[in-house]
Amino acid sequence: MTQQFPFHSFIKLVEFDRNFFHKQSLLEKTKMKLKEIIRGKDLLKLELEGAEKARHDARKFVDVKEREMLDLEEQLKHKKERVDLVSNQKEYRSIKNEVETIKRTQHDFESILVRAWENLDFVEKDFEKKKIDFEIKMQELDKQEEVIKQEIEMVHEELAGMEKQRNELVDAVPQEWIEKYVLMQSKVQNPVVPVENGCCTACFYQVLNQDMIALRHRKLLQCKDCYRFLYLPEVMGVGD
Ligand SMILES: [Zn+2]
Repeated sequence: MTQQFPFHSFIKLVEFDRNFFHKQSLLEKTKMKLKEIIRGKDLLKLELEGAEKARHDARKFVDVKEREMLDLEEQLKHKKERVDLVSNQKEYRSIKNEVETIKRTQHDFESILVRAWENLDFVEKDFEKKKIDFEIKMQELDKQEEVIKQEIEMVHEELAGMEKQRNELVDAVPQEWIEKYVLMQSKVQNPVVPVENGCCTACFYQVLNQDMIALRHRKLLQCKDCYRFLYLPEVMGVGD
């Protein structure tokens, strides 16, 4: 009786852990999802900021070019005024040349300005589109974040309750077994497995006859091949 009781508790602990670890990995996965959502939100913000900066730069470029264009007009007006005041042919030709140069510059400038306006129009529309897109996506991500956070809190609470239950199970199992169990746990996902048809169900190693007898007497055994703990489900009454 003294031997069967801790072993039974041990098997119960193993069964319990399957669920417990599943919940733990679920929590980790949910936390990863939350991270992804937050990353998604950051990316959205960056995208909108990029579009906003492009709009800002395009506006600034147009402003600068428009001012330069006005400056050219001012220069031209000034030259034309001077034409009226010239006294000789040489001076007249010189100013005329200067006027031509300014006009050529103006001509080149016009296409630059047109392209700048077109670009500004494009980035402004792009920004408006991205802003609308941003609001919709952000709202959706905010909603998702809220749901995931609730999920995390729920699993957290559940795990806290389970930890208490688990401690009680651990207390009922000899320390030596727990130590071996923890060691195996760090190596394999299923450190304790049932024997079926005389074989370890993890590695299918044939259990020796004398070990089968020991298992029937609820002795704690490790598989000779994979070192997992073995038990006989029919003897332990597990799985009912
Ligand atoms: Zn094995």
